[in-house]
Amino acid sequence: MNNSEPDVNPVYADRNRAACLAALLAHALGLRAGLRDADPQEPGWSKCVFIELPTGQVSWHVPDEELPRFAALPVFEAEWDGHTNEEKTERIDTLLQTGIVTDEPAACHDCGVREGELHQDGCDMERCPFCGGQLLSCECANRHFYPRYDRDFSQPSERFTAGDRQHGKRCTLADWTCPACTAIEQKGTHGLPASVYFQGLHDEQLDEWSRLLAGKGRVPWIAYPSLCCRCGEIRPQMFMVDDAEWEKYVAPRQRGQVLCQRCYDWIKRVIDTAAARRIAP
Ligand SMILES: [Zn+2]
Ligand SMILES: [Zn+2]
Ligand SMILES: [Zn+2]
Ligand SMILES: [Zn+2]
Repeated sequence: MNNSEPDVNPVYADRNRAACLAALLAHALGLRAGLRDADPQEPGWSKCVFIELPTGQVSWHVPDEELPRFAALPVFEAEWDGHTNEEKTERIDTLLQTGIVTDEPAACHDCGVREGELHQDGCDMERCPFCGGQLLSCECANRHFYPRYDRDFSQPSERFTAGDRQHGKRCTLADWTCPACTAIEQKGTHGLPASVYFQGLHDEQLDEWSRLLAGKGRVPWIAYPSLCCRCGEIRPQMFMVDDAEWEKYVAPRQRGQVLCQRCYDWIKRVIDTAAARRIAP
């Protein structure tokens, strides 16, 4: 044949478009999906579009000349798992039979229990049933036993001598009865007896606190993923912006929420463009 190279066959272009659309939608649904380098790379076919389906990974090559159409696709952050064309077909066919099952409980990344269960003791993901904060660090237990408890981070830690610390870590006298502890408490122990300040709550208090938690009802583990407050992307990647810039572009109510980088860049662009238009004659 001596005619020039034809454009991508329309049927093939349609297949590329469908694969890229599937990846874009899969990503928006919270599945891992996007473009990554093909492996091995063939000339003219440097990228593949990947989707991590519940039934396994699938991928399609996309010709380089069509890539500009798919600028919105995110980068696929995992490796090719080595699947063959037959495996890909099987994974898709299985999914088309069963539908997307998203009700498989996820595991807590800290203690490993499945959603719906209670965390293991000491897991930093457990929520406090009283205040909703992190159970490991909230103030509810201290405040229950010592209503005057008031954490003040501005107090310098140098206010205690090595002797103060040593005594505080060892003293076993009943609360508020030890003269040495009283002297330490006057330097500021957030309203706690010095022994509790340095050692934590007593064993009997911890037992009582466990009973109170059980009585109130400990909070079972359910993942509530963060969403971009503008486009709804699930668990968007974190990025850094300095505070002044954040306040310049992000509306007051949204400043404490999550934004994806794509939305943040878009917001900046439209605000700057509109401002430039106002200044221009
Ligand atoms: Zn956990
Ligand atoms: Zn609490
Ligand atoms: Zn003491
Ligand atoms: Zn967004």
